[in-house]
Amino acid sequence: MQALVLEAKDRLALREIAIPETIGSHDVRIAIHTVGICGSDVHYYTHGAIGPFVVRAPMVLGHEASGTVVEAGAEVEHPAVGDRVCMEPGIPDPNSRAARLGLYNLDPAVRFWATPPVHGVLRPTVVHPAAFTFKLPDSVSFAEGAMVEPLAVGMHAATKARLQPGDLAVVMGAGPIGMVTALAALAGGCSQVVITDVQQPKLDLAASLGPIRPVNVAQENLVDVIHAMTGGWGADVVFECSGNERAAAGVFGPLRPGGTVVFVGMPMHPIAYDVATAATKEPRVEHVFRYAHVYPRALALMGSGKIDVKPLITNTFGFDESVAAFDFAVQMPPSSVKAQIVLEA
Ligand code: ZN
Repeated sequence: MQALVLEAKDRLALREIAIPETIGSHDVRIAIHTVGICGSDVHYYTHGAIGPFVVRAPMVLGHEASGTVVEAGAEVEHPAVGDRVCMEPGIPDPNSRAARLGLYNLDPAVRFWATPPVHGVLRPTVVHPAAFTFKLPDSVSFAEGAMVEPLAVGMHAATKARLQPGDLAVVMGAGPIGMVTALAALAGGCSQVVITDVQQPKLDLAASLGPIRPVNVAQENLVDVIHAMTGGWGADVVFECSGNERAAAGVFGPLRPGGTVVFVGMPMHPIAYDVATAATKEPRVEHVFRYAHVYPRALALMGSGKIDVKPLITNTFGFDESVAAFDFAVQMPPSSVKAQIVLEA
């Protein structure tokens, strides 16, 4: 089949590749419609590796996908052939200790699309477990369906934060994950989100999504802003989504006593975690690795209209333009958030 193949670092090709896939009794075959380009796809393209995951053989990219079920295994009750769906890209071993604990995202044996050596889905079809394939509400487009994967990260972060109605949250970083975390935090009951970045176009877009107060940290001091808003008390929750070492080291500054920090972004290097400052606030600190159990909730929020991800989809490319789409994503202008590739018109 025709696929977007990462041959090696810096080398992409839209070419034929044989991916033999037989459909099991609990699997479905999906015709891929839309695939979002993720920061991780781009990083494999430009660096050939992410941490311990190294591209050693040609690998198909893409893991943020939606499509239509074209074949269902003998035991599959849902989804059905013809259903529009999106897919959770990580498949754990259901018998693993982590999966049995409900922590299936932490199964060391999880097979995740476009994480070496597992092929991604920038290709016409894929076979996937029905249990990790979710029917889209009628009001949710294929483009929005392909946004469920990044939204799931924000949903998982908001779940870990154990938000309460009326909470004030800070989201550090207005990239795609910061944006979806802000949306998930608002849907989860936050009265307002304060979002930070240094790129003004991203902040302007974020401010248009809801009760979101942008703070350009090149011009304004975040702690001053939060103290002014809360009479010196602080924010209930801080989501670190920038992956920037300096920002991540500052998570306790705007936090209220007894508040919660959720680390979402992945800094390239260890951060200066200030235990002494943290201790005076007795915060709860959470981390997230991808997500678990949140796709149905994300789709329910999209279906009801409570979360609208459409403004985040800023650039759309055809399948034949896939290489150009990745070159665009490598040098994404600050006004762009998410680029997607459409395989089927
Ligand atoms: Zn992604």
